[in-house]
Amino acid sequence: MAAERLQKYLARAGVASRRHAEELITSGRVTVNNEKVTELGSKVSPGDLVMVDGSLVTPPEESSYFLLYKPVGVVTTLSDPQGRPTVASYIEQTGKRLFPVGRLDYDAEGALLVTDDGALAHKLTHPSFQVPRTYLAKVKGSPDAATLDKLRGGVRLEDGMATPLSVDVFERAERNTWLKLVVAEGRPHLVKRLCAAVGAPVVRLYRPSYAGVSVDTLRPGELRPLSDSQVRQLQ
Ligand code: URA
Repeated sequence: MAAERLQKYLARAGVASRRHAEELITSGRVTVNNEKVTELGSKVSPGDLVMVDGSLVTPPEESSYFLLYKPVGVVTTLSDPQGRPTVASYIEQTGKRLFPVGRLDYDAEGALLVTDDGALAHKLTHPSFQVPRTYLAKVKGSPDAATLDKLRGGVRLEDGMATPLSVDVFERAERNTWLKLVVAEGRPHLVKRLCAAVGAPVVRLYRPSYAGVSVDTLRPGELRPLSDSQVRQLQ
């Protein structure tokens, strides 16, 4: 990791908020390599010895965050007993030991976060955090207004009620309709089960964004690191 500002380092280590870290520095309580540092612009590099009031401060290891465009025909696990392609071969390109956040079906494609930050993965997948997942589902036929209202009102599935945050028609074609659904939980096959329950079975499923992080220009099989501001938004 490159040099970073001392107050950022202290905040990242959980010693203080960025602002309080600035106060610690200006009041002379921080040393770098045993030298008191009171200037806010000071930087620290890997290997520097940072102390506050004489106690060593070590920030946690940096976590890694990537967005993968999971292609169709790939399982969202790191190994597959049936020998099907897995997301592991894409994650390998990062050179890091990362795992996928949640699942996307074998025959579905789109946004899949991969990270080694277990706490964030828990937060993003736990239903209590209501993290939005946006799906485009190509369904058979041409669902009418009553069917769409039924979906919007929520459907009782075998594992309980499921109510999308929103349901809209994205595009109507001759024999199929693309629906745009936003849901706030990750129960298995949720979108397929919701649509099937109102008589509109899903024939293709694409997830353009997860937790506000969008695949944008990524193509199937590509992945890119999240920006610092995207990571902050997720936290
Ligand atoms: N809903 C589904 O049916 N499948 C997915 O992979 C994700 C949401």
